[in-house]
Amino acid sequence: MSRFMSARHAALVPYTPGEQPKERKYLKLNTNESPFPPSAKATEMAAAAAAGLQLYSDPECRELAAAAAKYFGIDRNRIIFSNGSDEVLNYAFMAFCDEDTPALFADITYGFYPVFANLNGVPYEEIPLKDDFSIDPEPYIGRKGTVFIANPNAQTGIELPTEEIERIVSAKTDSIVVIDEAYVDFGARSAVFLTEKYDNLLVVQTFSKSRSLAGARLGLAIGNEELIKDLETIRYSTNPYNVNSMSAAAGIGALLDDGYMKRNSDKIVEAREYTKRSLEGLGFRVTDSAANFVLAEHPLADGKLLYSRLKEEGVLVRHFDTERIRNWNRITIGSMEMMQSFIATLEKVMKEIVA
Ligand SMILES: *Cc1c(COP(=O)(O)O)cnc(C)c1O
Repeated sequence: MSRFMSARHAALVPYTPGEQPKERKYLKLNTNESPFPPSAKATEMAAAAAAGLQLYSDPECRELAAAAAKYFGIDRNRIIFSNGSDEVLNYAFMAFCDEDTPALFADITYGFYPVFANLNGVPYEEIPLKDDFSIDPEPYIGRKGTVFIANPNAQTGIELPTEEIERIVSAKTDSIVVIDEAYVDFGARSAVFLTEKYDNLLVVQTFSKSRSLAGARLGLAIGNEELIKDLETIRYSTNPYNVNSMSAAAGIGALLDDGYMKRNSDKIVEAREYTKRSLEGLGFRVTDSAANFVLAEHPLADGKLLYSRLKEEGVLVRHFDTERIRNWNRITIGSMEMMQSFIATLEKVMKEIVA
C-alpha cells in the first residue's frame, strides 16, 4: 500500500475472483461461467453497435430498457441497468444501508457482500445457514437491517421458495430486501412478480451466467419505481455511462433470443443432475442445487487436497477457505461432455486419495 491510500480504505480486503489462469488449458469449473457462447443475435447486435463507438452510450439505455420491460412485463421505470450486477449490488449497499441499518446476509453466500459493506463503511451481520445449508427466514425477520439473499444461494445452489421470500418481505415492511437472482434461470422461481406487490423488494439479475455474457458486464435490478429512482441517483453520481453501447446491444440480442438461453439452461440442468448422481455414486455429499454449480464433499477426502489434486490433473474447481465449507468444493456445471471428463478425472483422483 502506498502512503497515499486514504485511511478509510486502508483496511479494505478486496474480493478474490476465481482463478483465470492463462499458462495452461484447464477444464474450467471454477467461476460459474457458461460453457456455451453467447447467442448469435447478441454478438451480431454488439458488433453493429461497435460501429458507433465514437458516441457515448445512452445513459438511459432506452432500447435495452424497452426490451427488458417487455421481457419482464413491467414498466420501464422499474428497471435499472448496471455494469455487471455487482455494480447495482454495490449501489444497493450505498443507497439502503447505514450505521443503524446494517446489511444482513448469510454466513455462506456471495463473497462480495461483506466487501461492499466494508467499502461503504456500513456494519453487517452474517446469519448462519441451517445445518443443512438452507436459509432460515426467522433471524432475518427478527433483526433490523437491509437483507441480501442470493437465490439460489451462492456456493450452495440451494433455493429459498418464493413463499419464504414473501414471508420476509411482508414482515419487514420498513426494510429493503434484496434478492440476488444470478442463478435463477437454472430451474429456480424468480421473485420479480412480488415487486408488483411490495415496495421494499429489489430483485437483481445478471446476463453473466445463463445468458453467456460474463465478459459484457451487464446486470439489472427491478423494484418499485421509488427504489429504482434512489439507485439512479447513486448511478448518476458515480458513472451515468456505466453500460457501454456494445453490451447494451448484446443484452437486447440476448433477450430477443430467449429460446437459446432456455435450451442452454436445460442442458446445464441435465448435466447438473448427471454430475450430482455421479458424485453421489462416488460417495460424495452434494447440495440440492438449483444453480449451474454444486457444492460437494467426501467424508474421506480433504477438500483442499482434492482441489489441489484436481488442479494438477488439469481440472479447476473452487475451494473456499471458510470454516464451514473447508471440506467442500464448488463445481461449476459445464456441458455434458465437460462433466463426463470431470467425473473420469475425479474417479482417478479419488482412487489414489481413498486407497
Ligand atoms: C456471478 C454473481 C453475481 C454477479 O455477477 P456479474 O457478473 O457482476 O453480473 C452476483 N451475485 C452472485 C451471487 C453471483 O454468483
